[in-house]
Amino acid sequence: MNLNQPTTYIKGVSVARAELLYKELNVKTCNDLLHLFPHRYIDKTQFYTINQLQQNTAEVQIVGKITNIKTVQQKRGSRLVATFTDATGRMELVWFKGTKWIKDSLKPNTPYVIYGKLNWFNGTANMAHPEMELVTEYKKKLQSAMQPVYPSTEKLTNKGVSNKVMRSMMQNLLQQAFESIEETFSETFRNENQLLHKKEALLNIHFPKGQELLAKAQYRLKFEELFFIQLQLLVKKLINKSKIKGFVFESVGEKFTDFYQNHLPFDLTNAQKRVLKEIRKDVGTGAQMNRLLQGDVGSGKTIVGLLVMLLAIDNGYQATIMAPTEILATQHYNGIKELLEKTDINVELLTGSTKTKKRREIHEGLQNGSIHILIGTHAILEDKVQFQKLGLAIIDEQHRFGVAQRSKLWQKSAESGVPPHVLVMTATPIPRTLAMSLYGDLDVSVIDELPPGRKEVKTVHRYDSHRLGVFRFLKDEIEKGRQVYVVYPLIQESEAMDYKDLMDGYESIVREFPSPKYQISIVHGQMKPADKDYEMERFVKGETQIMVATTVIEVGVNVPNASVMVIESSERFGLSQLHQLRGRVGRGAEQSFCILLTSFKLSSDAKTRIKTMVETSDGFKIAEVDLKLRGPGNIMGTQQSGILNLKIADVVKDSPILFTARQTAMKLLSEDAGFTKPENKLILKRLTSLQRSSGIWSNIS
Ligand code: ADP
Ligand code: MG
Repeated sequence: MNLNQPTTYIKGVSVARAELLYKELNVKTCNDLLHLFPHRYIDKTQFYTINQLQQNTAEVQIVGKITNIKTVQQKRGSRLVATFTDATGRMELVWFKGTKWIKDSLKPNTPYVIYGKLNWFNGTANMAHPEMELVTEYKKKLQSAMQPVYPSTEKLTNKGVSNKVMRSMMQNLLQQAFESIEETFSETFRNENQLLHKKEALLNIHFPKGQELLAKAQYRLKFEELFFIQLQLLVKKLINKSKIKGFVFESVGEKFTDFYQNHLPFDLTNAQKRVLKEIRKDVGTGAQMNRLLQGDVGSGKTIVGLLVMLLAIDNGYQATIMAPTEILATQHYNGIKELLEKTDINVELLTGSTKTKKRREIHEGLQNGSIHILIGTHAILEDKVQFQKLGLAIIDEQHRFGVAQRSKLWQKSAESGVPPHVLVMTATPIPRTLAMSLYGDLDVSVIDELPPGRKEVKTVHRYDSHRLGVFRFLKDEIEKGRQVYVVYPLIQESEAMDYKDLMDGYESIVREFPSPKYQISIVHGQMKPADKDYEMERFVKGETQIMVATTVIEVGVNVPNASVMVIESSERFGLSQLHQLRGRVGRGAEQSFCILLTSFKLSSDAKTRIKTMVETSDGFKIAEVDLKLRGPGNIMGTQQSGILNLKIADVVKDSPILFTARQTAMKLLSEDAGFTKPENKLILKRLTSLQRSSGIWSNIS
């Protein structure tokens, strides 16, 4: 049997049913159905008697007879009620749908095996729409210890495709197709990696002969799934390296050296030096760099980015850095401008609020090459912005940028055909498991060390009712010359309410911290950019002691003298947001504090988030907890990556298998990148067919 044929080739699958399978489960071919895996298994080795049934018994299997059937008229339609009896008692079976047909097909006083979920009414158990089978039929079948339960939808159930029907379809399919199942791994490979044969794996995933075989079957199929994803990513990376031409930053020149020796305000940490070396090596190879630079908040990514930009300039190229918000872009601009004050490097800022005249000047300066570094927001991506010779694009806090935007950068350089090197900087630690799946084709550098002298931010949880105590504490800190952030949530769905909370909060702070002794800034998304800048600027300069803000300050803002972060309604924030916000303090030499205010009522997830924040400041640990709480679907970037379309593996729960699969794929490529060994032929075949269908290499010509 050809497994690529439509499901109608399976015994018992009509055209209508095939259509339903396609619409509801996206199952088109026999092969699709074969890879529709059960999401759980029912152990039907256990039988209950009616007197054993407990109020809490969930799903049970009982042997008995139908002793009475009646149709009960209801407001809408009718309900079929049968009395089901065994030696120990009686219960009710109920049907709401298809009652006429069911009534005709039921055989009274004949032993049945029934199975289903129990409901209780007036002390009597009942079961709605039970799965039923005559005991004589039941005995004929080869019963496996565990029965698969398949994903289903309401439509499927309504149209009669119950789990039982699914099972029998699967049984037919396996009988018809078993011999046609193609192995994707050679025997050598299977032995080396302790994998079941594919046939055995598929048989046991659907109809496990026991727990142990089920586990082996799952392992084999999860491994296969993850292995091919990793292999594709790694091959893509290899091809990128060899095919996409990149600019060569050959030499460390005068600008880099001068800055490094004379203007660098501190010594680089070892991690910064190491990362710089990795990047330098990358941009010297003649292939385009696509590198992800991960480093926790405050680890000093900006200076690394700046040094690489200087390298680009030394080699005759322009560089750009793109930030997700205007505030952050402006801050980068001011910071970098200051660092480069004593050099002749020309830096410009381009954002949505850049005036037309200035904008024109910038466009011109970029094209004639007089601007060396352009800092900005999404505005950089506009078509009008063209560089003479863009050699390096840095994207800061990448999780706010889509893949499409990243690729837009490729078309910015006049020198056609050669894309700039791309460095993506992110402080959102991506759990390793996820990073491997999302960015398996990027190179990753990690700054895993904070600059010396940083003190851990002391983090505490306080209930709203303690706000006055918190205010007293703020006064003490301000007395010592420190500055304070007070952050309010701003969630899109409840925007109006949130603004009200923010303004109410602002007013109460103004009352509590009266001028002229205290000066307060406020920044939120509804303000004009110029006003935002002004308020921000006052805080940066130390003219105001308190900054009341929404999460617009979440990313990147750097005011070393600010040492207290108060987060209002912190139960409403996600973990990565809380971590980002906390990263705004602890940047100077002083002891810093983060105060998480919440109401008394906390969901269990919220409790976990707050507890995690109080217990650790390790961004990677926080990211792992976040991933566990929210699942990969909610982590930025996963939507496009396809890792959510996994059929059987789970990037979080199966991370050990993921590591093994990646290792195995790397080993294979390092030993036999050309897939010439006979034991790798099958793998190549599968890989080729995957590429055809996924178009994963479409951007490589
Ligand atoms: P992030 O990685 O979060 O972008 P930044 O680049 O904003 O971090 O750096 C945070 C702060 O640490 C800045 O004030 C920066 O000047 C400072 N910094 C960076 N590297 C060092 C270093 N090696 N020694 C001391 N301070 C540093
Ligand atoms: Mg930064």
